[in-house]
Amino acid sequence: MRFHRRWAAALAAAAVLSVGASTATAAPAVPGPGLLVVEYGDAATAQDLTEQRFLQLNEVLESSAAHTNALIGLPHDVPLIALSCGEANAFWDPESQGIGFCYELAAYYRGVFEQLNTAGTEAQQARATEDDLIGISNSVVFHELGHALIDLYDLPATGREEDAADQLATLMLAGDSLHQEYAVSAIRAWEALAIATEQGALEDQPAGEHSLSSQRYYNAICWLYGSDPGAYQGVVQTETNPDGPLPAERAAQCPEEYEKISKAWNTLLAPYLKG
Ligand SMILES: [Zn+2]
Repeated sequence: MRFHRRWAAALAAAAVLSVGASTATAAPAVPGPGLLVVEYGDAATAQDLTEQRFLQLNEVLESSAAHTNALIGLPHDVPLIALSCGEANAFWDPESQGIGFCYELAAYYRGVFEQLNTAGTEAQQARATEDDLIGISNSVVFHELGHALIDLYDLPATGREEDAADQLATLMLAGDSLHQEYAVSAIRAWEALAIATEQGALEDQPAGEHSLSSQRYYNAICWLYGSDPGAYQGVVQTETNPDGPLPAERAAQCPEEYEKISKAWNTLLAPYLKG
């Protein structure tokens, strides 16, 4: 998401950063010793406190940090800070070199998923919403990680950086069944938001959010399908599966799109990937 300058103060206040002079020179082409490190800023409101407790109890950010740290070496420790922002957002802050995840964003997506999860008992609905919230939160963190990596390692991202960040998020989510479920949650949210946007029903969009357009939604489905066509056959629209969201013509290109994305990011990140 777009970075807004006024969060820099909040982020800097919430984190003790150890950014030395070495960041001014080119980073060596080896996996850095740095880790994504989770921190919690104070919750400014009762609702923020609810989301802080949810994130902590479910170790949501800790899980995304662990997944990142298992795969990629950062040039120095990078804080992943949950904080009150005053609006729903997440961002990479190039000045303080940290990722911010706003409690308000979790609250926003909780509202989206509560409207989607209306089947079953109350307890089942609540559980489904929390599972989805865990999923999209991981997706958001990995998107911001994309921005972070491009900045930290001065990667020559081709095309729109927002697309590159979405692509990294897809790659981080495509590797195993747990993260694949997270990706499905993210797609469900984007679908709901894309529909609401098209209908003009969405007034309270997350601040600085990328276009929650149907294009982003279709890209995400396409890339996920492309990562494992056998596992995601159900998303393809066919005569026998008319409700599949992904048109068959687009689906045919998706394995190749995914291959290109995977190759591009793996080439860019090759020096920094852990064994
Ligand atoms: Zn972004």
